Amino acid sequence: MKIHEFQAKQLLKKYGVPIQDGFTIDSIDDAQAAIDKVSQEFSTDQFVIKAQIHAGGRGKGGGVKFSSSKEKALENSRNILGMQLITHQTSPEGQLVRKIMVAEALDIEKEFYVAITLDRSVGQNVVMVSTEGGVEIEEVAAHSPEKIIKEWINPAFGLRPFQARNLAYALGFEGDLFKQAVSFFLNLYKCYVDTDASIAEVNPLVITKQGKLVALDGKFNFDDNALYRHKDIVAMRDLDEEDPTEVEAGKSHLNYIKLDGNVGCMVNGAGLAMGTMDIIQLKGGQPANFLDVGGGANVETVKNGFKIILSDKNVKAVLINIFGGIVRCDRVANGIIQAVSELHLTVPVVVRLEGTNAILAKELLETSGVSIIAAGSLADAAEKVVAAATKGA
Ligand code: GDP
Ligand code: MN
Repeated sequence: MKIHEFQAKQLLKKYGVPIQDGFTIDSIDDAQAAIDKVSQEFSTDQFVIKAQIHAGGRGKGGGVKFSSSKEKALENSRNILGMQLITHQTSPEGQLVRKIMVAEALDIEKEFYVAITLDRSVGQNVVMVSTEGGVEIEEVAAHSPEKIIKEWINPAFGLRPFQARNLAYALGFEGDLFKQAVSFFLNLYKCYVDTDASIAEVNPLVITKQGKLVALDGKFNFDDNALYRHKDIVAMRDLDEEDPTEVEAGKSHLNYIKLDGNVGCMVNGAGLAMGTMDIIQLKGGQPANFLDVGGGANVETVKNGFKIILSDKNVKAVLINIFGGIVRCDRVANGIIQAVSELHLTVPVVVRLEGTNAILAKELLETSGVSIIAAGSLADAAEKVVAAATKGA
């Protein structure tokens, strides 16, 4: 799960990390009041208006505007709130800006990059820092990877003070800034672990002209499997920022990710779903989605799966690929027959069932009277569904 910058900053603040602060609004009617409040609270007449969308790269896309007066701040608020913001992380149509943060403007001396994530290759969290802040870190990683300094964290000890000092040293901090940086790293790490985050990124972390270290931006992702123990974080979820079909799928406990092709896929198990998408591509087709219906493929899950897949108007054919391990193929076949006839499907459906009671399942499908294209091997199934989708397109 992702959250907005202003929410990330609330978490950081709670953990004693200094942030660029402000007020977040969702209506232009509240802009003047927010500007006045920021002006009073932070004794400033300079502001930054920041679009709140889940995608990064807002600055480059015109979603972050420095404003040298209250009037400019109001004008920028008007322009950004409601805009369709296009960044390298949004879809080509961009993302509608429904909220803006009216933030205090800071005098920036230098920008740094800081992030924590899980390094799956070693099974440890890694804290990464770079003096190349503010820019796209992917660029730094590609062209000058030596400029990214990393500390891996032993889970038994957490981030140790000497590691925090190493990081502060690597960024060239001295004196009071060095101390600020050490406590920044320790607090950020605590926040990351306590919240079961999978990413905590501060880009940029800045030094102000007044010699203060401040998180200017904040980006958090959380491990969905741990959300049950973080009611406060779940409450931060913004469904407007998520794909509506994926949200709908989540309600039925289906793992769905929309893609651009025209071959709908219904598969049990994430690995098999990946393999199915690969073989569709191999046979010259394009998968319309990833869909893992999980272990128990019954009538309800198959029906919900169809509804989700077919809500995508690009879908011209559907491939059901189920391996009957725990779940028996004949039960799945009955589920498919019932779902296909109840939903009055018009797109061709290719079915491949393998595993326990596969032969019985095949007989059921063949004698059911519903129009289903039965397939043998996975290659056969992929060829048939790609052919059906091409004919239907
Ligand atoms: P992102 O583009 O989505 O990552 O949004 P950020 O919050 O990181 O802002 C983008 C850039 O705007 C930063 O890297 C800064 O260069 C600039 N910026 C943001 N806030 C301020 C500020 O208070 N003062 C100044 N001078 N620049 C700012
Ligand atoms: Mn940023």
